[in-house]
Amino acid sequence: MPQQVKERRAAAARPQDQEETAEGRAMFDDAQMRLHTAAEVIDLEPWLESVLAAMQMEFITDFPVRMDNGGIQIFRGYRVHHNGARGPFKGGIRYHPSVSIWEVRALAMLMTWKCAIIDVPYAGAKGGVVCDPSRLSARELEGITRRFTTELTPVFGPNTDILAPDMGTGPREMAWIADTYSMHQGVTTLSCVTGKYPELGGSLGRKEATGRGITIITDAALTERGEHISKSSLVVQGFGNVGQNVAATASHMGAKILAVSDVTGGVYNENGLDVEHLLKHMESGKMVADYREGQSLGNDEILLLPCDVLVPAALENQITEKNAGQVQARMIVEGANGPLTAEADIILQQRGIRVVPDILANAGGVLVSYFEWVQDISQLFWTLDQVNDTLDKKMRLSYEMVSQAARDYGVDMRTAALAVGVGKNADALRIRGIYP
Ligand code: GLU
Repeated sequence: MPQQVKERRAAAARPQDQEETAEGRAMFDDAQMRLHTAAEVIDLEPWLESVLAAMQMEFITDFPVRMDNGGIQIFRGYRVHHNGARGPFKGGIRYHPSVSIWEVRALAMLMTWKCAIIDVPYAGAKGGVVCDPSRLSARELEGITRRFTTELTPVFGPNTDILAPDMGTGPREMAWIADTYSMHQGVTTLSCVTGKYPELGGSLGRKEATGRGITIITDAALTERGEHISKSSLVVQGFGNVGQNVAATASHMGAKILAVSDVTGGVYNENGLDVEHLLKHMESGKMVADYREGQSLGNDEILLLPCDVLVPAALENQITEKNAGQVQARMIVEGANGPLTAEADIILQQRGIRVVPDILANAGGVLVSYFEWVQDISQLFWTLDQVNDTLDKKMRLSYEMVSQAARDYGVDMRTAALAVGVGKNADALRIRGIYP
């Protein structure tokens, strides 16, 4: 009889309940550990560290969606608010099979530090739906997005929590979110989400902003060393919106793009890839592996190529203790969120390879999201030059501030960035005090 219960229980278990993925958990543990390191560096009061280690709100929903075959499928979605000390919550919505509560918590925390480092008045949040967009039709994705938005209604809005794109989502999903929220409110409320099409209250330059920001930070980091981006070689892992815009903006500044890769594989050309040609190839809906103007190589191999700057702009946990010893780049600029594990950090530091962390390097996305929100609220729209110039200035200022902190505290760039981000949130919390 007990065996029968066991079997029946196992058969009844739903896949979404087995949510603890090893990667998500590892990322969360690293985020907590890095917070603790930063707290020690800035000599943070223990009560402030414990407040900042906690998640303020976690929202989980299982919701039904009608699929193209007429059946109903249940999807799981998350939204996590990390800490609201500095303003309304802000952060992306990710569609990926590996989304888990642990990953979303870790990413929400990173958003808190990121917003503080670039000095936008937001608190960190993140959300996601466990799904594989490459296996869903546009109609199914619309169903998922509109129903998820509806479920999220109690916890988000233009003054409380502003959504945005992340992995697997883009302006199309943001438009569905804006429309669904607006229909519920009975009034068009475009400021509830950023990363929209410019035709629908989106900011010019938002789509390119994360990649452009990474290139600006790369330029700042090279300049600090007395080098120049126009004489440098880059390798970009991940060729979605972020990776493509890093390649486009960096090659525009004269950098040689040695290799790029996406889920299908990589392409390498020692003389540099023709980025414009490659982007046209991608625009036609093809993948990197189909691109023939270079030598093809695997997604793991690309991380080990000799180059000046490696930009991991794909998934998290890409450089670990397993491959960090073989990395031949002189510098790593993190395009994705969390592409390096804490073990990799230590190995790279010992090998003298500089790491510019995600919370500084990829902050251009949320920075222009902030510009978009300001434009939507004020109903006054900026020119592309205004957006790009302000992005450039703010990113370089943030780089200098973090670099100065690294010198002041005698620590690496990640710890310095965390010290700045954690410190600013702690300042806000200290001033506000504990309610009631
Ligand atoms: N998802 C992006 C990030 O991780 C952008 C968030 C936003 O624009 O709010 O930074």
